[in-house]
Amino acid sequence: MATNPISPTIPFDVDGKHHGFLKLPYSRDDSAWGSVMIPICVIRNGEGPTALLTGANHGDEYEGPIALQDLAHSLEPSDITGRVIIVPAFNFPAFMAGRRVSPIDGRNLNRTFPGKPDGTVTEKIADYFATQLVPMAHLVVDFHSGGKTLDFVPFACSHVLEDKEQERQCAEAVDAFNAPYTMRLLEIDNVGMYDTEVENHGKVFVTTELGGGGTASANSARIARRGVRNVLKHAGIMKGEIERQPSTFLDMPDHECFVFSEVRGLIEPLVDLGEAVEKGQPIARIWATEKTGEAPVEYLSHKTGVLISRHFPGLVQPGDCLGVIGVHVD
Ligand SMILES: [Zn+2]
Repeated sequence: MATNPISPTIPFDVDGKHHGFLKLPYSRDDSAWGSVMIPICVIRNGEGPTALLTGANHGDEYEGPIALQDLAHSLEPSDITGRVIIVPAFNFPAFMAGRRVSPIDGRNLNRTFPGKPDGTVTEKIADYFATQLVPMAHLVVDFHSGGKTLDFVPFACSHVLEDKEQERQCAEAVDAFNAPYTMRLLEIDNVGMYDTEVENHGKVFVTTELGGGGTASANSARIARRGVRNVLKHAGIMKGEIERQPSTFLDMPDHECFVFSEVRGLIEPLVDLGEAVEKGQPIARIWATEKTGEAPVEYLSHKTGVLISRHFPGLVQPGDCLGVIGVHVD
């Protein structure tokens, strides 16, 4: 059995606040004995639960890195009981390239779990988290947004799980995050996801989609900063009251929530994020790009609910997700 070559430059079990790196040896043209240096901050104050917090699982999603840089900078050991492990840029090579996937091996970290200790750079990162960091944690928060190609209404979400007690604990932590929308999400492709790995370890897992388009807004960054502190308070790690605002509860019960394009073309949105949608209502039409005189292709919602996600770039190709409808729950 191969050993994962990643080594932390700071201790996990010493009280105080430590800034350092997860050092991943990576020999290459511009650095023969070089390493990928993934920033990490560990804050510990005595015995208590451990939270593992990650941003930029996809490198072009920014609310997580912003909120976690802020947390690593401002949170002090005296503010907590237990331990907080902060990795603002989980797929660091992808983050530095401003890309969803790693420029080194082309891998999507969130489809690479459980990873391999002797695999590619991304596989080694996945394996290190799966075998070293996730087992230390009681609570795991992984920030996402839409990246360059999707945009979302800001939501935190949990998944439908076989273990109903675990599902309840995850839903409570997501509720504490208190994003403007609170979601129960059906993953369309959960094999290899960090989410699935963490949930299979029996941990409390919170994930988000807080915006998109390859940038952050003042509002989405605020939601991320407040949400992560709320979850730490909920877990009893951070002192203080949870800051609550109204949140809309939505469900994504099945694949009918998704609308995909089967054509290539110019997208005309007919519904904006957060707007109500009726079943059968067109949410977008796709115009031809290379000639005039053709009627557009209309794509209809299969559900009555709210548009929670939309395709972000102005052009679409077959197979692109045009939009996602969330369904109201009481
Ligand atoms: Zn993502």
